[in-house]
Amino acid sequence: MKKTLRDVDLKGKRVLMRADFNVPLDENRNITDDSRIQAAMPSIKYILENGGKLVLMSHMGRPKGEVKSELRLDPVADRLSELLGRTVKKTDDCLGEDVEETVNAMKDGDVILLENLRFHKEETKNDPDFAKKLASLGDIFVNDAFGTCHRAHASTEGVTHYLPSVAGFLVEKEIRYFEKVTKDPDEPFCLVLGGAKVADKIPLIENMLDKIDFLLIGGAMAYTFLKSRRKGVGDSRVEDEMLDTVDNIFKKASEKNVSIFLPKDHVVAQEINENAKSKVVDEDIPDGWIGLDIGPRTVKSYESALGESKTIAWNGPMGLFEMKQFSKGTRALAEYMAKLDSTTVIGGGDTAAAVNQAGLGAKMSHMSTGGGASLEYLEGKVLPGIAALNDKE
Ligand code: AMP
Repeated sequence: MKKTLRDVDLKGKRVLMRADFNVPLDENRNITDDSRIQAAMPSIKYILENGGKLVLMSHMGRPKGEVKSELRLDPVADRLSELLGRTVKKTDDCLGEDVEETVNAMKDGDVILLENLRFHKEETKNDPDFAKKLASLGDIFVNDAFGTCHRAHASTEGVTHYLPSVAGFLVEKEIRYFEKVTKDPDEPFCLVLGGAKVADKIPLIENMLDKIDFLLIGGAMAYTFLKSRRKGVGDSRVEDEMLDTVDNIFKKASEKNVSIFLPKDHVVAQEINENAKSKVVDEDIPDGWIGLDIGPRTVKSYESALGESKTIAWNGPMGLFEMKQFSKGTRALAEYMAKLDSTTVIGGGDTAAAVNQAGLGAKMSHMSTGGGASLEYLEGKVLPGIAALNDKE
């Protein structure tokens, strides 16, 4: 178990907290979705209510070690100020004399936001000197940025070598749910996988086959699985180079008594665009047609496995959900899961976006805030940003 904010005395301490404020901006630099800022508020409020001096840090975009004015964090500081009802000062850099002076002048309950960490190439290189300088701005380090925990960067891993380091509430919840599904799931356990590429999901399947009872496959990756079972896939996206690997997965699954569910019907079109004429076909997809979503019969069959399960983990949409006419399968499964009492853990990235699009985020046990990080957790990898936090005694 990792130490959390609740395990440390914050009064009068400078609390250096890594958050994920990598929020989307429009062309006028207005924040179009502030959910990442909202997600950090419980930790922020707790630190302030307990008398800490809060020094926030984050990255935004990929400035690749250069100062890019369009990636400055001013819009984030403004939004934080609104949410907290007080001015949150943003410094012009994330380290240096001016920053040190600002931090030294802070009083208990004050908040500042450091400038975009990735204006320095040392951040992603996990440069020890850079990490040490960041660490000198705090007495305690809090990691509340799950989305970057799979990367050993200066602000996620480097700083932990110099400061007592604990998880914020967001990271604590991510750890709790991912530990549950990877180590101690209530059974039956159903893994739902979709998305574009089989290759991306193989390490995850390999790691989870020992733990799951059902594997439901949708999205473009389903067509490689169907082709391996000699089904007609028409012009759907298939990764021929993965066919042997997929055969092997079927073999291992049967040895381990895991039932693999594949689509029984499909929403197909002759071209990929929003207004393309689509239809539902049963079983084999004819030549000239592309599978772009699971069909209604598949939804029913997947619901039967989901309904039996006590734990569900979901990574990857069931179809090309960004286009409305191919989003129904993903939406139907999200709606069904939302009604269940079982533990439902939704991977970040596209899957979380699809569930949020349906307005169902609050109905799931856990919506992960990290796409890559949640994938690596399910692959059984050690996440350096989490491993580096202090263990509870
Ligand atoms: P991934 O990042 O691998 O989870 O893939 C997510 C992407 O896969 C999303 O952008 C989906 O639109 C896309 N996708 C899912 N199903 C299909 C499909 N049948 N054909 C093409 N793209 C798909």
